This record gives sequence, C-alpha cells and structure tokens, in this order.
Amino acid sequence: MYDVTIVGGGPAGLQAALTLGRMHKSVLLLDSGSYRNGRVSHMHNFITNDGMPPEKFREQARAELAAYETVEVRDEAVATIAREGERFIVTTADGDLESRLVILATGVRDQLPAAPGLSEIWGELAYGCPFCHGHELTGRAIGVLAGPPAVLHLAALLAPIGDSVTVFTEGAEVSVDDAALLDGLGVSIRPEPVLGATRAGDEVRVELDGADDVTVAGLFVGTGKLVQSAPFAEQLGLDLQESGCIAVDDLGRTSLPGVYAAGDLAHRSAFPMPMASVLAAAAAGQLAGVACVQQLLAH
Ligand SMILES: Cc1cc2nc3c(=O)[nH]c(=O)nc-3n(C[C@H](O)[C@H](O)[C@H](O)COP(=O)(O)OP(=O)(O)OC[C@H]3O[C@@H](n4cnc5c(N)ncnc54)[C@H](O)[C@@H]3O)c2cc1C
Repeated sequence: MYDVTIVGGGPAGLQAALTLGRMHKSVLLLDSGSYRNGRVSHMHNFITNDGMPPEKFREQARAELAAYETVEVRDEAVATIAREGERFIVTTADGDLESRLVILATGVRDQLPAAPGLSEIWGELAYGCPFCHGHELTGRAIGVLAGPPAVLHLAALLAPIGDSVTVFTEGAEVSVDDAALLDGLGVSIRPEPVLGATRAGDEVRVELDGADDVTVAGLFVGTGKLVQSAPFAEQLGLDLQESGCIAVDDLGRTSLPGVYAAGDLAHRSAFPMPMASVLAAAAAGQLAGVACVQQLLAH
C-alpha cells in the first residue's frame, strides 16, 4: 500500500513526488511519457530555467527524485483508478496497486484547428501561449490563427512584441468593435480559409484560399476548450469546471476526498481560467503534496 500514487510525470507530478519524498511518504509516480510540451525545444517564463529544454528539465527532476528512498518512478500508463472504501486501486498493464491517496497530474490535450501541416510545426513554430513563446519573436512578423474571442486577446498581447501581427480568422465573424480595436493595434485581418500552415526555413508559410501566401516567423493558435488527457476524472466522477478542467480548491483537493489534482488538468475556482505553465504546474504539485501530507497526518 503506497501512501500516495501520483499519475503523471510532468512538472506537477514530479514536484509533488519531491515534496512527498522529502516527508518520507511512500510514493509511486507513474508516467506514460506523453507531455503537453513534448514537442517544444525550449521552455520559457520560469526563473532560473528560462530557455531550458523541457526534456532536460524532466531528466534533472528524475535525477533529483532518485535521491529519495521512498519515491519510486515507473514508466507505465495507468488504465483505471477506482475507490474501494478508504483506499484506491490503481490498475496498470502489470496489475493492481493500492494507495491511500491519489494525485492526478495527467495534464490536458490541445485541440488544434484543422489547418494541414499545423500539427507538424506545433511547439516548434506554432504555439498557444504568448507568455511562453512571444518574446523570441520580437521585431518579427507574427501570425494568429483563431476566431473570436481568442483572436483579439492573442493579437493584443502580441502587438507590442512583433513588428507586425496578422490574424487569420478563416471567415469567422469579427464584430465591428473588435475590428476597430484590431485596426487600432495595427493588426491586419485575413478572413480567407487557411489551406495550410507549413515550415518554410525557420518561418511559417500560411497558405490562403484565393490569395497569396503570408509568411510569419511564428504562429499563435487559439486551441479552444481543454480536453483531459486521461479518463480518471470521469472514472472517479470528479466535478469539472466549465473550462473542462477538474475543479480543485487552493490545495488541489477535488470533489472526491483522497483525490487531488495538480497542473494543467486542474482549475482553481479563484482563478478566471486554468493557469497553464511549467512553474504554475510545479507549484500546484507542491501544494497537493503538502495537502496529502496533512491528510496522512490526520489519519
Ligand atoms: C506548445 C506548447 C509550448 C509550451 N511552452 C511552455 C513554456 O515555454 N513555458 C511554460 O511554462 N509552459 C509552457 N507550456 C505549458 C506547459 O507545457 C504545461 O503547463 C505543463 O507541461 C503542465 O504540466 P503538467 O504536469 O500539468 O502536465 P504535462 O507536462 O502535460 O504532463 C502530463 C503527464 O501525465 C502523464 N499521463 C497522462 N496520462 C497518463 C496515464 N494514463 N498514465 C500515466 N501517466 C499519464 C503524461 O505521460 C505526462 O507525464 C507549453 C505548452 C505547449 C502546448
């Protein structure tokens, strides 16, 4: 019987494991090896780690965890999680495990627009978050592929960074007010359907139906509603927020006692939206780890 089973080996799960290991709790971390930033060469906006390759971050985290005797890390996918009385049964291809508490840190999946070629450049030349990848495009041409309301938000964030911003709305109706705001920001609007977004050297060629191609240095994409990467919220009947993320309190507690959620898959009700970043995920993992230690103490 483990004290805590952590499902997910991204920043949220890794930090939760560190926090619990330092308090000598028996911890099993299970990682299926599919990370939201798995295609990204460099991550940003994390003090002391700005520009670090995410792969290196995970390697270093695992090396640090190896120093803690009560922490076990396995590269293994979880199939199901079920509650049985006061414990949880976690099932993998290797069989069943028992745990007093569970931390879900399985992240979310991005839903990309259908533009051909986009998935191939995702994380390399196309991104979702200006905070993470905007600055690297300073003084260059930036594209935004999104409809309202994300299009205005992304364009307004990126206008002070790029030399120019072009939004590709694919015919989605932009209100007169939004069009005036975009115009005021110096943003060009291209309404034509996008036939492709492909690599052209270190830039992106956006192919438009019935118009000349437009080349931008980077393309930001509105990714819509977030989708859980794993089925555990559904299996355990956890409450979700409208964002599609698991509803948690400030300590990562879900609607089911004994189950915690940390990282991109969770949404604190105090926040207007889920806070998706490596540092925020790690911080949430730490809080969930502390909350588990408190619950184990109460036991
Ligand atoms: C293109 C892109 C670029 C980004 N760039 C940045 C950046 O520069 N800076 C920044 O701060 N943030 C960036 N982010 C956001 C960042 O990647 C996430 O906020 C962060 O990875 C969230 O961490 P997490 O631990 O919640 O989830 P993830 O890192 O997605 O980890 C999820 C974990 O759950 C595991 N898992 C899923 N299902 C199962 C299962 N059934 N069994 C076992 N394990 C399972 C996965 O294998 C993985 O280990 C970027 C995101 C994208 C999409």
